[in-house]
Amino acid sequence: MRITVAKGDGIGPEIMDATLNIIKAAGADLQIDEIEVGEKVYLAGNTAGISPESWDIIRKNKIFLKAPITTPQGGGYKSLNVTTRKFLGLYANIRPCRSYHPYVSTKHPKMDIIIVRENEEDLYAGIEHQQTDEVVQCLKLISRPGCEKIVRYAFEFARQQNRKKVTCFTKDNIMKQTDGLFHQVFNEIAAEYPEIENEHWIIDIGAAKMADTPEAFDVIVMPNLYGDVLSDVAAQIAGSVGLAGSANIGEECAMFEAIHGSAPRRAGQNMANPSGLLQGAIMMLNHIGQSDVAAKVQNAWLCTMEQGIHTYDVYKEGVSTQKVGTREFAEAVIANLGKTPVHLEPVQYSTEYSLNLPSYKRKAPAKKELEGVDLFVHWPGLDANELAARLKSVETQDAHLKMITNRGIKVWPDGFKETFCTDHWRCRFIGNGGKSFSKNTIIELLSKAEAASIDVVKTENLYNFDGKQAYSLGQGQ
Ligand code: NAD
Repeated sequence: MRITVAKGDGIGPEIMDATLNIIKAAGADLQIDEIEVGEKVYLAGNTAGISPESWDIIRKNKIFLKAPITTPQGGGYKSLNVTTRKFLGLYANIRPCRSYHPYVSTKHPKMDIIIVRENEEDLYAGIEHQQTDEVVQCLKLISRPGCEKIVRYAFEFARQQNRKKVTCFTKDNIMKQTDGLFHQVFNEIAAEYPEIENEHWIIDIGAAKMADTPEAFDVIVMPNLYGDVLSDVAAQIAGSVGLAGSANIGEECAMFEAIHGSAPRRAGQNMANPSGLLQGAIMMLNHIGQSDVAAKVQNAWLCTMEQGIHTYDVYKEGVSTQKVGTREFAEAVIANLGKTPVHLEPVQYSTEYSLNLPSYKRKAPAKKELEGVDLFVHWPGLDANELAARLKSVETQDAHLKMITNRGIKVWPDGFKETFCTDHWRCRFIGNGGKSFSKNTIIELLSKAEAASIDVVKTENLYNFDGKQAYSLGQGQ
């Protein structure tokens, strides 16, 4: 199997050498193409941190094992991690977070969870705009294919890994459209896996429960931003971010890495713990069908942990027996290859079930009807009644002003004088009873607003899909 390897920056080369030595000694069948990414490439003037030739190698080999890299501060350098995930369509980020009690101190000795994070959309689409002096916006995009792919991956992974439950975290009590879609798709797909328990938690109380009682969870699937935050929390409370690896999986390509960064202060001192990258490499071996080797490495690593042979970040007087450097740690794992741990539970990776991930099939389109439009207006005034009076002149034969909100809160009609208002107003126009609302109505509204010197900074069409209203109401409407 041919793979691409990047040794990265800071502690990257040391932990990559340690990782490759261990998996090769365990019998991994790999041919390696090494590429240069990160700091040197950035500072040579390539703001992406990677050359076009290196992209070709990554795309040809499809499997990429990457050490952490340093993104230089300032100067418009793009994060290579984010670029790689997006370009290669690596839609699923998988982070197992388990405790190794009593060898690594943690308040949660029974914790063993897998976070499945959607990796491509949500607020990370990076579509941001300043619209008024006072207001900026970031678009949260959630798609049905995005939800279906990640939720199916979570259930398939749970089935393969013999996990018992998949939990979904969203905030759909507030974001009824975006998080609502994620939750709805979760329910649809969960029904196809009756042998796996499923449940949904609102993210705030779910996160609190996870931080307090992580043993209540097994696999947790969630949209991008929540997954970003909570996977770090989960890795930290399991004992150490230095021990966790992660997989980024796409339909064609996959990238495996440690979750920590390049720790430049520790570089070149033979101090860093290679375990996070090794865990990433174990996930890679499982992904490419070398599960026997993966299990051999993991069991040897578990033996090393329970023998108390620890790098400085894990070392604890009374628990550890030897403080070792990166190279010596790797040698100890190699010496343990073929052994099974005595106290920690040995692993046995199943090779019986390969993930069934059908390509997304677009559904038949729904019947879509335009009901109105929201005009977002930049207006420095304070009194919504005054703005409403001005907007009356914009009304057309087909459309009337229904409400005005400010940051989502209804301020007209019947607003509260206590509500704080910015210079960014959403003015909702709805069709006059029974009459159709067309794009021409919107054009007419915009022309009249322009003639009345009303500064419209954005419009948003209000639709129903198959008769179901598909936009949010104003808070208090
Ligand atoms: P970091 O993860 O590099 O370091 C945080 C702390 O953890 C430091 O005290 C460090 O000494 C320790 N640490 C991290 N990995 C360790 C290991 N394997 N063994 C022992 N100790 C370890 O985070 P940071 O300091 O915020 O970032 C440093 C650089 O890494 C930045 O340039 C950042 O952009 C980059 N970074 C890269 C990735 C990636 O490539 N995937 C991820 C995160 C940060």
